[in-house]
Amino acid sequence: MTIPFFDGHNDTLLRLLEAEGADRERAFMEGGKDGHIDLPRARTAGMAGGFFAMFPPPLKTGLAKVSGGAALEPNLPPELAWGDAMASTSGMASILLRLERAGALAVCRNAGELRAAMARDTLAAIFHIEGAEAIDTDFRSLELLYAAGLRSIGITWSRANAFGTGVPFRHNADPDIGPGLSDAGKELVRVCNQMGVMIDLSHLNAAGFRDVAAISSHPLVATHSNVHAISPHARNLVDWQLAAIAESKGIVGLNFATGFLRPDGKFDADTEIEVMVRHVDALVAALGEDGVALGSDFDGAMVPAVIGDVTGVPRLLQALLDKGYGQDLVHKIALENWVSMIAGVIG
Ligand code: ZN
Repeated sequence: MTIPFFDGHNDTLLRLLEAEGADRERAFMEGGKDGHIDLPRARTAGMAGGFFAMFPPPLKTGLAKVSGGAALEPNLPPELAWGDAMASTSGMASILLRLERAGALAVCRNAGELRAAMARDTLAAIFHIEGAEAIDTDFRSLELLYAAGLRSIGITWSRANAFGTGVPFRHNADPDIGPGLSDAGKELVRVCNQMGVMIDLSHLNAAGFRDVAAISSHPLVATHSNVHAISPHARNLVDWQLAAIAESKGIVGLNFATGFLRPDGKFDADTEIEVMVRHVDALVAALGEDGVALGSDFDGAMVPAVIGDVTGVPRLLQALLDKGYGQDLVHKIALENWVSMIAGVIG
């Protein structure tokens, strides 16, 4: 029997936006071999839904404003201007909303809508932005995005913006790199708390993480991050961060990116499922059975060949069962923990 699952992070909308010339919505609905997620493969796999990220990509034209973030850390791309981020975000949002109109998925604005979509076997999407560059510091575009369905915000991707600073893609590095949230970033946390918008800590640096932990009234959430003690990448969570998430009764979604799974930090598809299970073991030990979920990074990262694409998720869930995880715990990790967190934070 296929175990239904809910995924904490995919970059499928960016993959579709960047697809050349195609009818992007039809490509998703009819499916094929491109990328990791499309509708037929999602349904085959048992994917009940997930956070659909809108990641505004760095400009390829070289027009981006170079600022403190780039000077601070050569691996960080330059900051992205609001208008450029809004343009790509509008493109990705249009794909999500057109897919909803076509009946391919439901954009869920609360846990009730999420449960209703899953009950009628419709793919349930949470509208997420990865990096808050499309939000101005007066939070005017936040109103627009919220009205379109936005319910989850990663304050930064791996670059600096008006709100905070992200971690570089660097192995054998601590996330304690760069300054904390700006005043606007701190205000963004308060505004999101009031509006019922989830704050995502994945990609944020240590000082920013501490600021969110101090300000936010919500449980701490990292949608797609792993355990630094196993894979010492700046993108992964060190012990004190896991302890802070546990104390807040928060949650971490397991990232399938091989570079964040492997102890050697290599992006290498020849990566055993066993290392994924090791991260889950460590996350359960640190966060308890309610604090662990999935956050694949499908369509945004190289995943183990044994997973391949969304249809490989059942192999991970089977590996957890084989390891001795009970059915109840596997169901929690696969789906129920995300649904409970969304109910508690978004409403
Ligand atoms: Zn990411």
